[in-house]
Amino acid sequence: MEYERKRALLVKSLKEQNISDKTLSAMMKVPRHLFVPSVHMSQAYVDSPLPIGHAQTISAPHMVAMMCDLLELQEGQKVLEIGAGSGYNAAVMAEIIGQKGKIYSIERLEKLAVFAWENLERAGYSNVEVILGDGSLGYPDHAPYDRICVTASAPDTPKPLIEQLKPGGIMVLPEGEGYQRLYIIRKSMDGEVTKQDWGGVIFVPLIGHHGFKIYNSRRG
Ligand code: SAM
Repeated sequence: MEYERKRALLVKSLKEQNISDKTLSAMMKVPRHLFVPSVHMSQAYVDSPLPIGHAQTISAPHMVAMMCDLLELQEGQKVLEIGAGSGYNAAVMAEIIGQKGKIYSIERLEKLAVFAWENLERAGYSNVEVILGDGSLGYPDHAPYDRICVTASAPDTPKPLIEQLKPGGIMVLPEGEGYQRLYIIRKSMDGEVTKQDWGGVIFVPLIGHHGFKIYNSRRG
């Protein structure tokens, strides 16, 4: 009950930041306290990133909400997420796309892939599959995707992700090292790709073949 009250206050503050009703209603349903380590449960509904171990973070609620809105998620879509982390962002997207949709979420750290999977299981999200691997390569097994959500910052746009985006699809991804920008990438029906700069953000680095090669600890 206490968590529900705090969640309602958080959602109210997101409404004031012009988040869409569709995303707000998904965020009202997802129990974020089930996606953070127990030591941080009391802060689960503060609008900030929180540590989830292994030098990684669960993103701040306003950033999750903003990315969902920028993706223009629709019911029944097939979505690829890079960076499962806690599984929270995947759960919010899963609420929006519904049972007819599917989320494939890739995580490079085994302990976090297990953490995300357990959290999603406990919270009842059966339309999310967590995969252990290097998401900078995408996930060709189920490509192409209607939407791609990248939750770690890349040096530049990984080519496989562009290739695995459906015509008419949208991808959001942060790019940059110290100074990061969030981009909205659209692929038109005839395959033309456009890139729009949304603004400055702070994410942990995307590590991998089409990501950064060295470990560099930062908050996301
Ligand atoms: N979406 C997550 C959530 O809701 O908790 C937040 C993710 S955190 C900001 C970024 C995640 O990306 C970390 O868990 C990190 O291990 C993961 N990551 C970094 N590089 C990756 C890669 N190449 N493939 C898959 N995951 C990666």
